[in-house]
Amino acid sequence: MIPVRRTKIIATLGPACSTDDVVYQLLTSGVDVFRLNFSHGKQSDHVETIKRVRKIATELGRYIPIIGDIQGPKLRLGDVDGVHQLESGQPFVISTKPAPGDAHRVFTPFRPLPREVKIGHRILINDGLVELVVTGVDQDDVMTRVVHGGPISSKKGMNFPDTDMTIPAITDKDREDLKFAVDHAVDYIAASFIRRRGDIEGLRELLRGFNGQELKVIAKLEKPQALDNLEDILDVSDGVMVARGDLGVELPPEAVPIAQKKILHAANRWGKFGITATQMLESMTTNSRPTRAEASDVANAIFDGSDAVMLSGETASGRYPVEAVQMMSRIAIAAEANRHIEYSEVRAPFRKVSETDEFTDALAGAANYAAEQIDAKFIVVFTQTGFAAQLMSKFRPKVPIIALTPSSWVARRMNILWGVQPFVLKEAGEFHEQIVDRVDDYLLARDVVREGDRLVIMMGSPIYQRAKTNLLRVHRVRD
Ligand code: ATP
Ligand code: MG
Ligand code: MG
Repeated sequence: MIPVRRTKIIATLGPACSTDDVVYQLLTSGVDVFRLNFSHGKQSDHVETIKRVRKIATELGRYIPIIGDIQGPKLRLGDVDGVHQLESGQPFVISTKPAPGDAHRVFTPFRPLPREVKIGHRILINDGLVELVVTGVDQDDVMTRVVHGGPISSKKGMNFPDTDMTIPAITDKDREDLKFAVDHAVDYIAASFIRRRGDIEGLRELLRGFNGQELKVIAKLEKPQALDNLEDILDVSDGVMVARGDLGVELPPEAVPIAQKKILHAANRWGKFGITATQMLESMTTNSRPTRAEASDVANAIFDGSDAVMLSGETASGRYPVEAVQMMSRIAIAAEANRHIEYSEVRAPFRKVSETDEFTDALAGAANYAAEQIDAKFIVVFTQTGFAAQLMSKFRPKVPIIALTPSSWVARRMNILWGVQPFVLKEAGEFHEQIVDRVDDYLLARDVVREGDRLVIMMGSPIYQRAKTNLLRVHRVRD
């Protein structure tokens, strides 16, 4: 059946969802896309997780993409035994000598650290929750004083807002994780700390080297430089993520809501999808209900134009992963029901890159108009790459979109798109009369439509060959 909700939900996988049962419940509660964060966990765990998601998605007959999030040039704490509380004012040591961490010292694998930071530099831990200031350095250690106390645990990220760090844009660990992602047929790569066009191009080059040119790339926007180069980055990315965790450390908090609106608006203009991420229902990591501010944040991210909203620690390591997804779904459905607030503006014009893009975009606009005029049940889009469905989605039509493609890989990828329900249809016939009959058979057999339902169908004829989208058809099922 076609779900009522159009905004897609991304859930991060972690120890809180490491059983078949929880993954099943997450999927049936509304998860559309899973994210695996390569910064945490072991590759052997990730293999199990990917297998589990693929198995349960197949059982449910769903096309569920997996995003592999690569760490990028981020320094993290080493392992800490459990959770330790740092008190404001106390001394704390970050050491490059391996040892389990506690409330007095912690290991970091980045050997050059003592030579890179200077006395007085700030170190922020866990998206800025804990703040340290450097008081001294020696051969192996960085001595600090805790400015704002708080909890620390394994692998929490560190930010150095005052330090010009020499760490490369793509690390050896990233290369390994990219190869892993290709070998395990992950669908999307989320690329952390992108600053410029060349960062994405370099990543694609590496993917090609692993024979993974099929993987789509999402630029995580979390550096001030990325905002300066936003148009360039959008040009070469498949989608973008407003990665508010690090963005809110790299920039002052008051800059985050503005950046969110600018990024999502620009993504829509480029016809690329946009994800809003981090702390969306943060309090649900420990509570069964969200704060009013969090509910508002999810709705506003949708009003701002997000295609998908994401859960991080809430599902990866929280106490209420399933409840968080249910809550996010309810908030999204309520926000979408008030579309007059949501989409008061007409979609900004698409950046016309080529003639075929221009044709597809024009037909998508026409399909949106026609579907509303005739009160169509669905807009049906034939697509080989997912591109036509992506442009259709960007019009935010009132009528839900069914995307038909011969490839299950493409079907999976399209499940991240706002309002798009993908299906695999291998043999669609060749010419448009046959195709229309096949659509009827296919959708009737799946109980998606009834005789007499109105459809708007967008296709390229002859279908699934070189023809790009060039045809729009209005139609009654079985007429
Ligand atoms: P990023 O900057 O990439 O978002 P993060 O540390 O904020 O990194 P998230 O993916 O946002 O990580 O997840 C939030 C928290 O959930 C993590 O800090 C970690 O404590 C926990 N977590 C996520 N994935 C895993 C995992 N695979 N294993 C263990 N803990 C995890
Ligand atoms: Mg995070
Ligand atoms: Mg991050």
